Amino acid sequence: MKTVSDIAVLRSAVRNLRKNGGTVALVPTMGALHDGHLSLVHAAQKGADHVIVSIFVNPMQFGAGEDLDAYPRQLARDEKLLADAGTALLWAPDAKTIYPDGFQTVISTPRAATGLCGESRPGHFDGVATIVCKLLNQVQPDVALFGEKDYQQLTVIKTMVRDLDMPVRIEAVPTMREADGLAMSSRNAYLTQQQRAQAAALPQAMQDAIAAIEAGSPVEMALAQLKAALLQSGFDPIDYTQLRMADTLAVPDFDTLKPMDALRLLVAARIGKTRLIDNMPLDWQAKIAAN
Ligand code: AMP
Repeated sequence: MKTVSDIAVLRSAVRNLRKNGGTVALVPTMGALHDGHLSLVHAAQKGADHVIVSIFVNPMQFGAGEDLDAYPRQLARDEKLLADAGTALLWAPDAKTIYPDGFQTVISTPRAATGLCGESRPGHFDGVATIVCKLLNQVQPDVALFGEKDYQQLTVIKTMVRDLDMPVRIEAVPTMREADGLAMSSRNAYLTQQQRAQAAALPQAMQDAIAAIEAGSPVEMALAQLKAALLQSGFDPIDYTQLRMADTLAVPDFDTLKPMDALRLLVAARIGKTRLIDNMPLDWQAKIAAN
C-alpha cells in the first residue's frame, strides 16, 4: 500500500489503478481506525477492484470548543491496519493541501443538515459536505462507502451527490458494534472504564424503545422512557431522541404514515465530556399490526 499526500501524485496513482479498466472505491475516514472502518474497507473490496482510503481530520467540520486538537491521530498504526486489510492506496493530505490560502467554497444541504446533530453542531455538516465533495473530486471513485453509524452525515452526502449530479455511487454500510452493542467509534477511546460500561445502556435503551413502539406503545411514551433510561444510566444531557423518516430525516406525520415507510430512531447523548450518537431502524408495519 502506498501512502500519498500530494494531489498530483494521487491523481497519477489513481490513473495507474484504473489502467486495465479496474474500478475504484473510496472510503473517507478521519483515522484512529477500528473494526467499523475496516468493515467499510471489506465492503468496498466486494464491489470494486481497488480500495482507496482517505485519512483527514477535517478542521472545517469541528466547531469552536470541539475536540479537533484532542482527536486521536495514529497514522502509523492506521497504515498497518489498512495495508493488512488489502487497501491499495492511502490518501493522507495535510490541511494546507486541502484548504490552501484563498479557499472559500462551502457546500450546504440545509434541510438534511438542520436539526438532530445540526442543532448542537452548527456548520458541522457544511464542513462534512465540503470535504466529501473535495475528496470525491480528488479521487473520482466509482463508489464511495459511508457508515450508517453517522446516519445524518450519510443523508447529507446522498443529498449532495443527488443534487449536484456527482458521478459516484454512494453505498451505506451497517453499523459495526462491540459485543455489548455499543457502536464502534473513535470517540469511545475518550470514555473512562466506568463510562464505557455505562455506555452500553445507549443501544440497549434504543432497542427497548423500538421493541415497545413495534409492540404498539405510543411513540411519545416510548421516547420519554428512552430518555429516562439514558439519564438513569449516567447520560446527561440527552441532545435528542428522535424518530425520523429514514430517507430524508424529515419529521414523520404519524397519522399519514404508510406501513412500508422506513423510519429511523436517532439518539445523541453525552456521558461526561463525550458525545455519543447511534441510530437504528424501526419497523412501522409491526407497529400498525400491533395497534
Ligand atoms: P470517521 O473516521 O469517524 O469520520 O468515520 C469514517 C467512516 O466510517 C464514516 O463513513 C463512518 O460512518 C464510518 N464508521 C464509523 N464508525 C462506524 C461503525 N461503528 N460501523 C460502521 N461504520 C462506521
